[in-house]
Amino acid sequence: MSSTPSSSFRGVARSCDRDFYERELATFIPPRVFDAHCHLWFEDEVPFRIPGYSGDVGANEYLRLVDELHPGREMGALFLSYAIPTKPAGRDRTNEMTGRETAKNPRFRGEFFIRPDDDPEWVRQEVHRLKLHGLKCYHTFSASKPTWESSIPEFLPERLVQLAHQEGWVITLHMVKSRAVADRENYECIRRYCEQYPNMKLILAHSARGFQPAHNLEGLPHLKGLDNLYFDTSANCEPIAHQAIIRILGHDKLMYGSDLPISHMRGRSLSAADSFLWLYEETPVWGEKHSKIDPVLIGLEHLRSVKWACWSERLTDSQIEDIFWNNAAKLLNVH
Ligand SMILES: [Zn+2]
Repeated sequence: MSSTPSSSFRGVARSCDRDFYERELATFIPPRVFDAHCHLWFEDEVPFRIPGYSGDVGANEYLRLVDELHPGREMGALFLSYAIPTKPAGRDRTNEMTGRETAKNPRFRGEFFIRPDDDPEWVRQEVHRLKLHGLKCYHTFSASKPTWESSIPEFLPERLVQLAHQEGWVITLHMVKSRAVADRENYECIRRYCEQYPNMKLILAHSARGFQPAHNLEGLPHLKGLDNLYFDTSANCEPIAHQAIIRILGHDKLMYGSDLPISHMRGRSLSAADSFLWLYEETPVWGEKHSKIDPVLIGLEHLRSVKWACWSERLTDSQIEDIFWNNAAKLLNVH
């Protein structure tokens, strides 16, 4: 297979998506959009498919795909490399590709995918060689099972946080455990890492993984006063999850993220009880009783939840532009 991303691009948006965009988002999304959480991939290395799309996704394909969420916007992006434990070579390939694609545009930044057993000196050399800007970790590489109940150090060990501190890098962390940031072990670890390694910048993905916003209301007050702590909104469709960040920690901590490929699947995340669930297009809930719902792209539902959060928190246009560009540009030195 060629090392250059290739694709057979066809748009995946349907008329229900275009109507939703015009009705809900056309006048909300600012002219410049920095996407602080998104992925590039080789089709043969990943377990997912975007319905109606085939091919690898490099920077050009990325731009064409996200243009379906925010057409005509000037884009910047932080690409998070991707890996699954069963395909060790895939990680190296995707890290290489992330470096190569990031180099194509001065408004692109990229994160290197780490495994918890990586040697910090090797990571340092690789990140420099690939001209990347930080680290991406994931719970599926944790040694403890089930991995979604892992403690943060089991997939983001302290010596790699220390490396990010030495180098001034960002780290994107999708924390796990059933109660996310409301879990004491999680918020204590985040606080300790941020205080002990102030030159490392930590981004909590999916609005602190607050797919159940009650967890954010409970946990975020424990994370006040950390200058190097940030959040990306990606894939979370609950407005209160974003609002909790804006109200408790400030709008200048929050950055928009599409989470492509998730943005291009259909449905939404939904909070329930003390947890959450995902409704996908194939989940049999869209045709009950008298209604027939056409589920729209998750990325569009997500954008509406960000809009509702901004409206409810009475943000000004310039504060909304901060969430969609300035906060990330400042954090990542994009001019
Ligand atoms: Zn992601």
